[in-house]
Amino acid sequence: MFNLSRYFSTLSFILIVLAAGLLGPLYRYISIQQMTALAEDRNVAMAEVFKNSLGPDLLTLLGNSAARDANSLRLAAEEVALRAKVMALMNNTAVIKIKVYNRLGITVFSTDISQIGESKLDNPGFRAAIGGAVASDLAHRDTFDTFEGSRANVDLLSSYIPMRGDNKAVEGVFELYQDVSPFMRSLYFALWWVTAGLVAVLSALYLMQFLLIRRAQGILCEQEGKIKTARDTLEIQVAARTDELKKANRQLEGEIADRRQAESKLNFLAYHDPLTGLSNRRRFIERMQESIAEAGQRGQRLAILFIDLDQFKQVNDSLGHTVGDDLLIAVSARLSEHVRLIDVLARLGGDEFICLMEAVRNNDEVAMIAEEIIAAFDEPFRLGKHELFLSASIGVSLYPADGDTVVDLMRNADSAMYRAKDSGRGRYHFYTPEMTQAAQKRIRMENLLRRAMENDELSVHLQPQVDAATGSLVGAEALVRWFSPELGNVPPGSFIKMAEESGIIIKLGSWVLREACRQVMQWRSSGFELPQLSVNLSVKQLERPEFIDTLDDILCETGMDPAHLKLEITESVVMAVGNAFDILDRLRSLGITLSLDDFGTGYSSLSYLKLLPVQQLKIDQSFVFGIGINEGDEAIIRSVMALAKSLGFEVVAEGVETIEQAAFLKALGCHKLQGFLHGRAVAPVDFRARWSLG
Ligand code: C2E
Ligand code: CA
Ligand code: CA
Repeated sequence: MFNLSRYFSTLSFILIVLAAGLLGPLYRYISIQQMTALAEDRNVAMAEVFKNSLGPDLLTLLGNSAARDANSLRLAAEEVALRAKVMALMNNTAVIKIKVYNRLGITVFSTDISQIGESKLDNPGFRAAIGGAVASDLAHRDTFDTFEGSRANVDLLSSYIPMRGDNKAVEGVFELYQDVSPFMRSLYFALWWVTAGLVAVLSALYLMQFLLIRRAQGILCEQEGKIKTARDTLEIQVAARTDELKKANRQLEGEIADRRQAESKLNFLAYHDPLTGLSNRRRFIERMQESIAEAGQRGQRLAILFIDLDQFKQVNDSLGHTVGDDLLIAVSARLSEHVRLIDVLARLGGDEFICLMEAVRNNDEVAMIAEEIIAAFDEPFRLGKHELFLSASIGVSLYPADGDTVVDLMRNADSAMYRAKDSGRGRYHFYTPEMTQAAQKRIRMENLLRRAMENDELSVHLQPQVDAATGSLVGAEALVRWFSPELGNVPPGSFIKMAEESGIIIKLGSWVLREACRQVMQWRSSGFELPQLSVNLSVKQLERPEFIDTLDDILCETGMDPAHLKLEITESVVMAVGNAFDILDRLRSLGITLSLDDFGTGYSSLSYLKLLPVQQLKIDQSFVFGIGINEGDEAIIRSVMALAKSLGFEVVAEGVETIEQAAFLKALGCHKLQGFLHGRAVAPVDFRARWSLG
């Protein structure tokens, strides 16, 4: 830092020394000049006095001098009384020596006799004086001889003064020695004081200024310290702020990255199925629109494969959603392996997948892929401890042959898939226009059936079951009938499946059950007793958690005795419902008996049967029709009878149309018979009319 005090003190010191060094000698010089002038004046005055007092003697001396030699002059001087007079004049004055030179520079008179006769012709003082000017010289002598004796340490001012005669001409030269020692002493004394005073004043000034400057320096230092502190604080703050900004910047960058990630995630979620990572319906539809437009321009063909898993629901219901989810993931992975790279595979939801094939050359190519996909399901899916066998049904629609919009092509592929499912599991089917008609018919029927429920177009008919041995009435199966004003009589075979698929069966099934119970109770109260009422139960009904409650309500409402109620369920129903055992047990605990309908068409194993809380097996009519015709059917009936006997099941045979069939069954020990032989399903009023008499 700039040190003000140091610079100031150095500079001031130099200046003070300079001032003192210059002022002192200057003062001395001026003083000496003045003193010299004064002393010179006195010398001149004294010289005048000498001349005036000794005028004639001096002139004589000068006049004779030219003729005399040095010794004679000296003697002459001694002789003359001049000396005495000079001494008298000099007495008590500052003049301590006097000499007189003639025009030739010869000393004609001197208070120091030894000097008489000396030549001063070359002396500059003498020369000046002979020229008419006064010349003086100041000198210091350690010792000096005066007319009164020797003096030590004496300052002398010697002046050469022209001596003029009456004609003003310079006739000789005086040399006067004046003792100026007192002047010089006082001069030196004054000089000392002046110097001392000057030094003191300057020193005081210096000191004062130094103090002032030092104070100023202190303040400056203090200020500088403050400024430094402030700057440091500021720097720290700036650093902190910079840090903060950097941090904020990083945070901002992080947030932007997060947001981008979230956006891309959202974007991904918007277009993908979160479970399998495949494209979702939305993405598939968008892609299909693009593909249709492109294929239209290029004249290419597209194929849409609608893939539906056949037994997924059972797995999901029996093993739980977690296994179901894992299975869907495994299935999508396997499907991905078998579609071409350029194909778009998407999951539409549930167990429905869809594949878009672009640039399709011919139907064979599509058929090959469909077969490959179906074959991919030959291998079981291994999920943890489970080994699951699955199959897929595929419906195919083609662009442009089967439609030129996304909606048409997807719907047609869906219809084809239904056809594939209908024709058996693990198949594929190409769309045909006839399917649309069937689908349209199905939709129309669905609407009509919904309306039918409200319009009282449904009724319950009853088909008798008789004791195989005696032929007496042991019960009746309730079968729904639909008379539609538009469609006429619609057989249950053609609307029950549709009712199941559309969910209408829930309401419909409850209605049939309530209606049948109500009828039986009405008969009872009017004196006609039906020993047993059998009602068909759909898997969809059994799946509903509120089913038991509904059933309970109906029993309560109608007053039906559960012991007289039998529910018919198919083997597939039992296998399809996850907690079937549970529900069946609860039905049993209500006192309801259970019958396994269409027995023999399913694949119930013996061990499985043993566990089921079922009391009756109902031999499917397809086997009964084979009696007397098909030995295989007869063999099946025999083994069913043996099985039932060993497990303690009651057996009823349905579709008994002939006496031979009845005899065959009776011989094997079949307990009950149902079929046209004993009566078709008829309206309650007809039923009572036929059976009330026994
Ligand atoms: P299903 O339960 O096996 O009922 C027996 C079917 O066989 C009835 O047909 C009956 O009329 C018919 N049938 C009875 N004896 C003979 C015979 O000797 N020869 C011939 N050829 N057929 C005979 P339907 O009434 O058309 O019922 C068809 C199917 O519709 C039923 O098969 C049953 O699965 C279903 N269904 C009918 N009503 C209901 C209902 O109320 N609820 C449910 N869930 N399903 C029902
Ligand atoms: Ca039945
Ligand atoms: Ca049946």
